[in-house]
Formats: sequence, C-alpha cells, structure tokens
Amino acid sequence: MVNYQKIPAFFKILPDLLRIRDKIRNFAANFINMDHLTPQQRHKNMAAIHNKNTKPEMIVRRGVWKRGFRYRLNHKRLPGHPDLALRKYRTCIFINGCFWHGHLVDSSTMGSSACCKIPSTNHEFWVAKIRRNKERDKEEQRKLAEMGWHCITVWECELKPKQREQTLDSIAFTLNHIYLQDHSSPKPYEPMEEEMGMPMAAENNDG
Ligand SMILES: [Zn+2]
Repeated sequence: MVNYQKIPAFFKILPDLLRIRDKIRNFAANFINMDHLTPQQRHKNMAAIHNKNTKPEMIVRRGVWKRGFRYRLNHKRLPGHPDLALRKYRTCIFINGCFWHGHLVDSSTMGSSACCKIPSTNHEFWVAKIRRNKERDKEEQRKLAEMGWHCITVWECELKPKQREQTLDSIAFTLNHIYLQDHSSPKPYEPMEEEMGMPMAAENNDG
C-alpha cells in the first residue's frame, strides 16, 4: 500500500539524494577509475582539475608552448616542483602570485609594496607568512642553481594584458640566451687521456 501523503516529501528530498549519490560516485571514481564516469561527470571532473591551473600559469604555459618551447609541469624531482621545467634549457620557470610571494617586498623591512599590500588586520601573521614564502623561494632557487638549473621567475603583474606578450617574448629571449651561453662557452682545453699519454711516451723514448 502506497502512502500518498509521503510522496511529496520524498520528491522534495529527491534532488538532495541525487546530489549526494553523485558526490559519492564522483568521490569514489576519483580513487578508482575515471572511466566509470558518464561523459557529463567526467567533464565536471576535468573542469575541477583544470581549475587548479591558475590563470597566470596557463598564460605562461600557452605563450611558451606557442613560441616552440617544450616543458614538463611541476617536475616532482626538482626542488620546489617548478611550474615549468625545460630540460633542454636546464631552466625552471616559476609563476608567482605577487601577494603570496611578496613581489617587491623588501625582505628586511617587510613593508607593503605596490604589488603586495600586506593586510593591516593580522599584520604579523601575514608578514610571517609572506616572509616564509620568500625565504622558501630563495632556498629552492639556490638548490636548483646548485644542481645546475637556471631559474626564471614570472610575476603575476607582468602578465596583465598590456604587458603579457612582451613578458612572454622576454622569457623566450632569456631561454635562447641561456641555451647559447651554456652551449657556446669555450670550455678550457682538457686533453684526453691518450693525448696526455702519447707525447709523454715519445719524450721518454727520445730521452
Ligand atoms: Zn608584482
């Protein structure tokens, strides 16, 4: 026997139930296999993943790719997991948000800059946080340099529409410059072992 009085209530919560079901399904699919998703769900999922690619990063990725450079994203084995790593150029590109990375903020005074206004509420907290980020950036780049990698930092403010193309061109210029420098610097002449041995042997024979 159907209780008709209860049906409207059921329909009221039906959308919620469906939403909960979808959430559980999505959650599970993320851990099991994306292929179980309907195209619609997969689209939603991909969109969520794409949103992780913040806009400034996408601008640089597209611009650098368009200029013929190939790269790897968030290289896990490099310090700081650089946004882009170009092996051929032995160069990492970091795309930094001006606020979080304290663009133009002096490390000793930690005063606000044109790019990075440190909030007055919870001021000390923000100063500490941004200082830590700046120190971490510096440390990562030092480690990368030790490993023979060059670093290019691109700031969010340099990617405003008016400046964008110029910034991307200058990244390309810098990469080419790095490549030429790394490959054309005259290495000090190091004779090979055979070369070193032969004249010595000859000299000994003569003497
Ligand atoms: Zn800036």
